[in-house]
Amino acid sequence: MKVVLATGNAGKVREMADVLAQFGLEVVAQSEFGLKSPEETGLTFVENALIKARYAAKMTGLPAIADDSGLAVEALGGAPGLYSARYAGEEGNDVANRQKLLREMQNESNRKAKFVSCIVLLQNDTDPTPLIAIGECEGEILQEERGDNGFGYDPLFFYPPKQATFAELDTAEKKSLSHRASALKVLQQQLRGKA
Ligand code: IMP
Repeated sequence: MKVVLATGNAGKVREMADVLAQFGLEVVAQSEFGLKSPEETGLTFVENALIKARYAAKMTGLPAIADDSGLAVEALGGAPGLYSARYAGEEGNDVANRQKLLREMQNESNRKAKFVSCIVLLQNDTDPTPLIAIGECEGEILQEERGDNGFGYDPLFFYPPKQATFAELDTAEKKSLSHRASALKVLQQQLRGKA
């Protein structure tokens, strides 16, 4: 099955495209159709993922997969959450977003946080029964950045089982254990159930 991957985030494409190919899906990034992402007006990860996938399906006529994800920090009441990509104001400015997070967490002793990923698959733009898969990954927010890999908040997200930040893991390792990896595993089970 040929599907459009509804994201403009190169980090997500890197982490999802070949895994989806292993599921037998022929993945085409939305950028190859010249598509930009629509405004994310939902109040949940699920709604925003559906908005992105529905738009890509409508514009291309193909089934579509989208991920909506973010970082939820316990001491900040779940922020930046849905607004992770635009936490500091400008959409997708990872450096500014991390600086703001460090400022907000400056005097905070509770450093617990989790990444959440919601991945949806729509057969077409009016599909009433989308596949919806959610994955989470728990960790801690460091006082300073560590590592150069990954994207977004990775250099600040310490993952205790590996004693490393996500930005200190190589791509293959992060891909195998992240919130997105968990959501992709759930999606794979759902696709197997449909086969
Ligand atoms: P979205 O494109 O609206 O889903 O925004 C997701 C945002 O959440 C990204 O721009 C990052 O700031 C953050 N995020 C999501 N997943 C990750 C990850 O795996 N590592 C680091 N940051 C992430």
